Amino acid sequence: MNLNLNLQEGNDLAHYATKDAEGRLYHEPDQIYRTPFQRDRDRIIHSRAFRRLGYKTQVFVNSEGDNYRTRLTHSLEVSQIARSVATTLKLNRDLAETLALAHDLGHTPFGHAGQEQLHALMQGEGGFEHNRQALRIVSVLEDRYPLWEGLNLTRATLKGMMKHGEVYSCDRHLFDLCRERQQGFLSLEMTLVDRCDRIAYVHHDLEDGLDSGYLKFEALKEHPYWNEAMRACNEEYGEVFRTLRRPLQIRTIIRHLLNQCITDLIETSAGRLQKLSSNTTQDEMDAGSTEGLPTPENLIGNSTAMAESIRSIYEYLHENLYRHPDVIRMSRRGERMIELLFREFMARPTMLPRHVQKRIDRDGLHRVVSDYISGMTDRYAEKQFLYLTGG
Ligand code: MG
Repeated sequence: MNLNLNLQEGNDLAHYATKDAEGRLYHEPDQIYRTPFQRDRDRIIHSRAFRRLGYKTQVFVNSEGDNYRTRLTHSLEVSQIARSVATTLKLNRDLAETLALAHDLGHTPFGHAGQEQLHALMQGEGGFEHNRQALRIVSVLEDRYPLWEGLNLTRATLKGMMKHGEVYSCDRHLFDLCRERQQGFLSLEMTLVDRCDRIAYVHHDLEDGLDSGYLKFEALKEHPYWNEAMRACNEEYGEVFRTLRRPLQIRTIIRHLLNQCITDLIETSAGRLQKLSSNTTQDEMDAGSTEGLPTPENLIGNSTAMAESIRSIYEYLHENLYRHPDVIRMSRRGERMIELLFREFMARPTMLPRHVQKRIDRDGLHRVVSDYISGMTDRYAEKQFLYLTGG
């Protein structure tokens, strides 16, 4: 049987796309039916940390409602957008998809409040930061292979996950890669995922915010970005739109906004990429990144006008949703649970599962407790909190 699997990723990739996966920290032979990046993507999807994202939320605590985004559905939405845009721009869609699926792996329970609380508790011990945590998850904490810790992802994927070019000081196995990442050129796929993340969460938070009632439709009408989209939907659907029930109007407007934003991202980026000379490869950009060549941040992005619209609607969300008294109250509740769990496990490390305790000698008690708590889902953290406080 001749399986023509068309694994030659180079066939439909532009010269500026990432092609080289750069091998893995532990050598593994290539597979004939999946490319290295496809295998990375599959390893992330099959990981326990990825499954736990289903019970972690960004804005609304998981127990608040079944229709709100969780970090899992958000990651899937970002990967869908990133894959579509990468395909259109002839970037490496498998790498983009992989980075999108992995981009929120390191988050704590209870959203940003959880992360900030854990960071405060880890002061003087290297702090806590979700990108660094994600690298630790995929290279140390996931326990699936007999011969190595972590998922043994490709070097190019690991570098793509080093958003701020940093790793924890206990993760010495990543130091060389981290140095390469700091000196080298960021992949275009990495920047693309970052842009898609922002586009996804801004619009989805608008939708979830309206569904939850924290954001008011009548008030949002005053915002030019929303107002303009309403006008366009009115024009497109006429009387049908005006007589739709409110939730369907909201979804129609959100879909219009997302389409418009993604189309703008594609067209703006394509226009800038076209100007790159046809022999500018990633390696050459890498070598010349200090000599005035365009950076990925300058190449992949929305038009100035659209970027400004996204910024202004983000500010609206910040003021009206993220700083809503009820949301602040939910966050405070999460912070207190994280704080209590941290102090309890620090005081009595023998309560940690035995396989977790085994890492204390190598990585230090603070880091191990931080790993354990940050890996918890909202509901598991809440259950542990209630248990330890006798509730
Ligand atoms: Mg995200």
